[in-house]
Amino acid sequence: MQAIRLDAIGQLSVGEVAKPVPGSGELLVRVESCGICGTDRHILHGEFPSTPPVTLGHEFSGIVEAVGPDTSGFSVGMRVTCDPNISCGLCSQCRSGRVNLCERLQAIGIHRDGGFADYAILPVTQAFELPLDLDPLHGAFCEPLACCLHGVDMAKIETGASVVVLGGGVIGLLVVQLARLAGATRVVLVTRQAEKRALAERLGATATLDPGAGEPIAAICGPDGLLPGGADVVFECAGVAETVRQSPRMAKSGGTVVILGVMPQGETVAIEPFDLLFRELKFIGSFINPFTHRRAADLIASGAIDVAPLISRVVGLDEGAQSIRHPARPGEIRVLVVPQSTAP
Ligand SMILES: [Zn+2]
Ligand SMILES: [Zn+2]
Repeated sequence: MQAIRLDAIGQLSVGEVAKPVPGSGELLVRVESCGICGTDRHILHGEFPSTPPVTLGHEFSGIVEAVGPDTSGFSVGMRVTCDPNISCGLCSQCRSGRVNLCERLQAIGIHRDGGFADYAILPVTQAFELPLDLDPLHGAFCEPLACCLHGVDMAKIETGASVVVLGGGVIGLLVVQLARLAGATRVVLVTRQAEKRALAERLGATATLDPGAGEPIAAICGPDGLLPGGADVVFECAGVAETVRQSPRMAKSGGTVVILGVMPQGETVAIEPFDLLFRELKFIGSFINPFTHRRAADLIASGAIDVAPLISRVVGLDEGAQSIRHPARPGEIRVLVVPQSTAP
């Protein structure tokens, strides 16, 4: 079978690898779709820790092709989505219920072979069923949605709250929808890209802002701004220094900033501690998807979250590797890899 391999940091190839055989407690999944995420580009460039050589792809779903020995709960023909993050269950963090902070956390598609391949191995502990009548492309959104759900949970959005979302990529556009479902009545999405602003308004943003058109902090928090005094919750979903720096200044006093965007490891941003203290801002990091994957799968399966407009392109493995090697194209939201040689 074919797979996109990270051979070493900076080296990506598409090539033939052995079709895996599921062991005890494992499923063999024929991959139907696997999303290319900014994290894949960070991994390639050594800006996010990984253990090559490895098959990348941590946002996938597919059909169970074979079930390993002594494996219950799943059967051949089921559609499943992968929660890629495997916690050890034994370390002090796991035993305190913070499985996402596991001291021995491993991720499928980062530390062990993932979904940019015709087939992938999925431990049953990481598998969640999806309905067979779901569009097979939509299953690839469960993982990013589960990560957004964790951030929205941490923000504790109250009904009627105001929210700013910085960044109009897949994370920002999912957070807009989740914030509305959580009860926010004013949701402002900020991005330079006009197409993404239009899409955000279609998906539930009550207003959008082009940060290139003026001073974005004043345009939101100023007396004549969209949310005078600032937002109850600000989600940083762009993962760039400028928006991280802006995020606390867009929150109202007593408000919450949630960092969901992934900045390159080692990069720093100047923050004013006096402002955090004096205005009692909560500055929260949200990492991956502890216990949120089932709800994410249900939200996708029910259609409560609209993911169809987030699909920019569907490509095969070769073009997928090319896409990972280059920055996302302007206007591009999600590129999905559908392995081409998935012959039954
Ligand atoms: Zn991802
Ligand atoms: Zn652990």
